[in-house]
Amino acid sequence: MTKTNIITIDGGEWFHENWDGAAGGLFRINKKLYSDQSAHQNILVFENDMFGRMLAIDNVIQVAERDEFIYHEMITHAPILAHGAAKRILIVGGGDGGAIREVFRHNSVEHVTMVEIDPDVVDFCKKWMPMVSDGSFDDPRLNLIIGDGAKYVAATDDRFDVVIVDSTDPVGPGAVLFTEEFYRNCKRVMKDGAVLVTQSGLPFVQRKEFTEAFSHLSGIFDYASAYQIVVPGFWGCPMLLGFASDEKARFSVSHETLRGRLNEAGFSARYYTPAHHKSAFHLAGYLRDMIPHTEKLIAEGLLDD
Ligand code: SAM
Repeated sequence: MTKTNIITIDGGEWFHENWDGAAGGLFRINKKLYSDQSAHQNILVFENDMFGRMLAIDNVIQVAERDEFIYHEMITHAPILAHGAAKRILIVGGGDGGAIREVFRHNSVEHVTMVEIDPDVVDFCKKWMPMVSDGSFDDPRLNLIIGDGAKYVAATDDRFDVVIVDSTDPVGPGAVLFTEEFYRNCKRVMKDGAVLVTQSGLPFVQRKEFTEAFSHLSGIFDYASAYQIVVPGFWGCPMLLGFASDEKARFSVSHETLRGRLNEAGFSARYYTPAHHKSAFHLAGYLRDMIPHTEKLIAEGLLDD
C-alpha cells in the first residue's frame, strides 16, 4: 500500500512529488477528487488552480489538464509523421487516454491496440479527467486490452508500424517496461521500418533509470536516440522521449516532408510543429552524452555536436 504524499502548509493540503528525499514538486490541492489504491497503484486526482486537474500515480504526476497536450502531441505525432505511413499503432500504458486522442487525429491510422495494466486508471480518467481522452475511448479503431504490456509484446502475433510506450516511471508495474527483455519484445512486434518511442523520464533527476534504459535500446536497435520536451508540471524537466528504429531514414525526415505530412493529416496541433520536431532531436551536450554510441549517431548525422 503506497501512502499518498500529502502535506499541510499554512493550513492547506499540498501534493508533494518527492524525488529521492532531496527535492521535488509541490502542488496545492485546491480540491481532492479521488484518492485510492487500485489493485496495482496508488491513485490521486485533484484540482490545482494553476495546472487544472492533475493525476498522480504512486506519488508521481502523470497528467495535468493544462499542459498534457505537450507530452501527448510529441509522443504521438513525432513517430507517426516520421514514419509517414503508419496504419497500426501499439500503445503500452496510456491509461489517461491522451495518447489515443492524439493518435486518432491521423486519418491514416487504421487500428490502435492499447495495453493498459490498470482498469481503474482508465475508469477514473474517463470520469474525473474526461478532457484528456475527449471521447477517444469510443473510437471504433481502438482495441483496448487490460493487461501487462510486457506480457502482451512477448506473446502477440500482431505487428505494428509505431509502438508508443506511454508508461509510468520504472517503479511498481512500470518497472518491467524499462527492461532489455521488454524492448526486445517490442522490436519483435514491430514491422520493417517501424518506430518505437518511450517515455524515458527526466534525465537530470533520473539519470540512472535513463542511462540503463538507453543502454538496452542502443543494444537492440540499429539507431536509438532521444528527443526533448519540457512539460511545466513535470518537476525536474527536461524530459526525454526515446526514439528507436532500424530504419535510419526515420531520424532524418526533412522539415518540408513533415510539413507536408502534417498538412495531409489535416489538423493543427497546439504544441507540435515540424520545426520543433526537428529541433527537439538537437540535444544539449549533457543529454546527448547520456545516450550510448553518441559518436556513431554523430557520424551518421543523427545527433550533432
Ligand atoms: N503521461 C504519463 C507520463 O507522462 O508519464 C503516463 C501516462 S499513463 C497515466 C501511464 C500508464 O502506464 C498508467 O495508466 C499505468 O497504469 C500504466 N502502466 C504501468 N505499468 C504498466 C504495464 N506493465 N503494462 C501496461 N500499462 C502499464
